[in-house]
Amino acid sequence: MTGADPAGVWSSPGRANLIGEHTDYNDGFVLPFAIDRRTFVALDTREDGRIRVASTFDGAVAEVALDELDDLFPDRRGDVPEWATYPLGVAWALLRTTGVAADAVTGVDLAIASEVPVGAGLSSSAAIEGSVASALNETWGLGLDRVALAQAGRLAENEAVGAPTGIMDQMASMLGQPDAAIFLDCRSLDTDVVDLGFAEAGLALVVIDTQVEHSHATGGYRERRAACELGARTMGVPALRDLTVDDLPRAATLLDDVTFRRVRHVVTEDQRVLDTVRVLREEGPRAIGDLLVASHASMRDDFEISVPELDTAVEAALRAGAIGARMTGGGFGGAAIALVPHADVQAVTDAAAAAFEASGFRAPHVFTVTPSAGARRDA
Ligand code: ADP
Ligand code: MG
Repeated sequence: MTGADPAGVWSSPGRANLIGEHTDYNDGFVLPFAIDRRTFVALDTREDGRIRVASTFDGAVAEVALDELDDLFPDRRGDVPEWATYPLGVAWALLRTTGVAADAVTGVDLAIASEVPVGAGLSSSAAIEGSVASALNETWGLGLDRVALAQAGRLAENEAVGAPTGIMDQMASMLGQPDAAIFLDCRSLDTDVVDLGFAEAGLALVVIDTQVEHSHATGGYRERRAACELGARTMGVPALRDLTVDDLPRAATLLDDVTFRRVRHVVTEDQRVLDTVRVLREEGPRAIGDLLVASHASMRDDFEISVPELDTAVEAALRAGAIGARMTGGGFGGAAIALVPHADVQAVTDAAAAAFEASGFRAPHVFTVTPSAGARRDA
């Protein structure tokens, strides 16, 4: 970077998903909220039509000409460090989406710093995409709205990075609001803000990061997506979103056991999201605990994406006073969340640490998150 004042600073948050796991790419429902940990991008313009990215995540710098982005993605993505495919991929996706020519926009230097733990199931990837998309949208005068920026982030992650993820993370990061979750219909992309009222109810949202790294690009995640596609095809519907719990008996006769259980998770999870929204509105956050617990059991037993560390975290939290707890994010590692009365936060923290030690696991990182604002310009 040049050391001069940046032309601006933008940021976008990580997210926690309250409920609705592996429903997004099945056109279903999710209920994430933006968290109070953000990724910041300082942007400086440059005159030579190039884009340079640097991140505190990695000492290296990556730089390409804007008109080379089309050659880089997707086939030559290996020419730059993997982390750089996120910000460069967003630049590529924005130009591709809008049809704006690379030589019609200014070159940029992007300096990235993040508070979002990487690979913890809190979507550091959507945070970097949202902050870079916001910075470039404004600097390049593209005029895209928040939903379009979320879609550009997803396009970058799917095509440029090569991770086949859904739209939830980007929508939560772009649209988050303080003390509220975003109810998202992943088919229509319609959203509704749902008040959480955690503070008023004397509740904290505790994250138990297992320190087990997950990866979207590898085996298990792709396999689950394939099973969902097979399930929908066999049931004759465009997506699992089009099934309800009433269809499950027929699904049981048509699908093999493993595919049936994958389908049952998605179909019941969609229903749990709808139930959680209703219960939050009618009874408040203290009444959603059983839904969180049922969601975890479904991921553990039917979708089989939990790991012993996540099960241990959930069980320890519930024993120590959590109202509800579940793994969050794609699974195979990452974090669990627990809804905990303020008075029991320390007990849950201690219980998780003790249970991990007793099982011989690496010590977890335990911290609270607050539902917070989505992407914004900071300076
Ligand atoms: P997560 O659950 O945190 O989103 P992902 O595997 O989807 O996990 O994304 C993590 C990847 O995103 C990192 O390995 C890195 O490539 C990229 N990334 C996240 N934050 C940053 C950052 N601040 N700077 C550079 N790259 C980042
Ligand atoms: Mg991610």
